[in-house]
Amino acid sequence: MERRVYIETFGCQMNEHDTERILRLLEGSHYLETKNAKEADFILINTCSVREKPEHKVYSALGRYKWLKEKRGVIIGVAGCVAQQEGDKLLDRVPYLDMVIGTHAIPMLPQLLKKIEFSGQRVCETGFDPEGNYLKTILPPKPLDKVNLSAPRSEDRGLLKVHPEPRFVTQPLKAGLRVVERVKSYVTIMQGCDHFCSFCIVPYVRGREQSRSSREIIEEVEYLAEMGVKEVCLLGQNVNGYGKGLEEEIGFSELLGRINQIEGIERIRFTTSHPKDFSEKLIQAFSKLPKLCEHIHLPFQSGSDKILKAMHRGYTKESYLEKIDHLKEVCPSIALTADVIVGFPGEEEEDFKETLDLMGKVQYDDLFSFKYSPRKGTRAAQFQDRVEEKVKQERLSTLQEIQKEITLRKNQELEGRVKEVLVEGRSRQSAQDVAGRTRSNKIVNFGGNLELVGQLVPVRIIKAYPHSLRGEIIPTHCRSENAPAYQQAGVGK
Ligand code: SAM
Ligand code: SF4
Repeated sequence: MERRVYIETFGCQMNEHDTERILRLLEGSHYLETKNAKEADFILINTCSVREKPEHKVYSALGRYKWLKEKRGVIIGVAGCVAQQEGDKLLDRVPYLDMVIGTHAIPMLPQLLKKIEFSGQRVCETGFDPEGNYLKTILPPKPLDKVNLSAPRSEDRGLLKVHPEPRFVTQPLKAGLRVVERVKSYVTIMQGCDHFCSFCIVPYVRGREQSRSSREIIEEVEYLAEMGVKEVCLLGQNVNGYGKGLEEEIGFSELLGRINQIEGIERIRFTTSHPKDFSEKLIQAFSKLPKLCEHIHLPFQSGSDKILKAMHRGYTKESYLEKIDHLKEVCPSIALTADVIVGFPGEEEEDFKETLDLMGKVQYDDLFSFKYSPRKGTRAAQFQDRVEEKVKQERLSTLQEIQKEITLRKNQELEGRVKEVLVEGRSRQSAQDVAGRTRSNKIVNFGGNLELVGQLVPVRIIKAYPHSLRGEIIPTHCRSENAPAYQQAGVGK
C-alpha cells in the first residue's frame, strides 16, 4: 500500500540534499512525497544545529504537528544534526515523537519505520558508521522512457558490485528525477569534517571526514548526465579534503578532472572549500577545466588574525588574500562568495574593521553573514569574552549594508553584456518568465517558455538588482548555427 511522507528541512544545501536522498530511499518502501503535512502518514523533520535559529525552529515545528499525532496517529521523526546531538533526550522531551535518526543512520530509515509501524515502539538510532555506508549511492529510479532494458546493468559492466539501496531499478517507475534535479543535481562526495573550527558543531554531529569512492561518484554523475542533468554541484564540508582515507590515490582536483570528461554534463560547481587547504592545483583547475564554473564560495569568517586564530581556522588575513589575488590572476572572471561571522568572542571594534577591510579588498559578489551563536560542546562556547547581542546586531547590519552596495555594483557591471544561462524553471517573479543561472551563479529572469528548461541560452542582461538580474534572450536567428549558444561575439561565460 502506498503511503505518504512529508519532510520539513532546515539548514544548508547539504541538508536539502539529504532530504532528497531520504525521499529516494523511502520510495523503495512505498512512501511517496506529499507537500501537505495533513495528508502524511509519516512526518520527518530534517534538522540543522549549525546556528541557533534553525535549532529552535525544530521544536516549534514539532509543536505544529502534535495535533496530527493526536488525531490520526501519524508517525513523527526527527533526523539530522539536532537528532544526532540530542539523541534520547529528544524522545524524553517530546512524548509524541516516534523516531530520532542521526546523520549516519539514514540507510536504516525504512527498517526503523517498519518497526514503529508494527510494534509502535519508539526508536533512537544515532551511532556513527566508520564504514561510511550512509554515503552509498541512493539514486532515483529511471522513468520508463529512459530505461534501456537491453543495456547491460552496471554490475555486468563490472563497475560496481553491490548496491545496498534501490537504483537502476528495472520495474515500472514512478517519479524519476524531481523537477529541479533534472537540470542540476547535488552529488555528495564526502561527509563530516576534521577541522574542528572552535565555533562549529559539524564535526560533532556529522563525524570525521569520509570520502565516497571516485567510482561511485562518477557512476552517479554519469547516471545524472544520462537523465539529462546539465549541472552538478559536488557537496562536502571540506571538499579539498576529498580522497583522504580512500584506497585509491585521488585528490579533489583529479576528481574534478574526471567529472569534466563526462559527456552531457556542461557545468561543475562545488561547495564548500576551506581556505587553508585551497591548493594551487585547485586554483589552476579554474583555467584548465572548461566545465568548472567561474564561481567559488570560500568562507573567510573574519578578517582579524586574532579572531581567526581563536576560531582555529589555520590561515591569516594575508594568506587568504594572497590566494584570492592568485585566483583572480588565473581566472579573472571568477565570482566570489563567502561566509562571515560577526561577534565571535573577543571581537573588538578593531577586529571588525579588519573584516570590513578584507571585504573591501576582495569585493565579493555576495556574502552569507551570521551573528556568532555559541554551540554547546564546541570550544568557543566556553570562551568568556562574549560580545553583547546589541553590538553583534549593529555589526551585522553595518556589514550587510556595505555588502548590499558591493553586490549591486557588481551586478550592474553585467548590464549590457551577454551571458550563458542554464534555464532552471519558471521565474518566481512572473508566470511569463523563466529563470536560470549564469556560470557565475547569478540568477537571471527573462521572458521565455518552459521548453527552455534545461537549455543553455545566451541572455543579454538589461537590468541589475541586488539579488537577481533581468535579461532578454538573444533570438535564435541571431545565433550562429554551429556554435553553441554562448559562443557568440561578445558572449561571456
Ligand atoms: N565547512 C564550511 C567552511 O568551513 O567554510 C562551513 C560549513 S558551516 C555548516 C556554514 C557556515 O555557518 C560557516 O561557514 C559559518 O559562517 C557559519 N557558522 C558555523 N557555526 C556557526 C556559529 N556557531 N555561529 C554562527 N555562524 C556559524
Ligand atoms: Fe565547521 Fe570548520 Fe569543518 Fe567548516 S571546516 S564544517 S566551519 S569545523
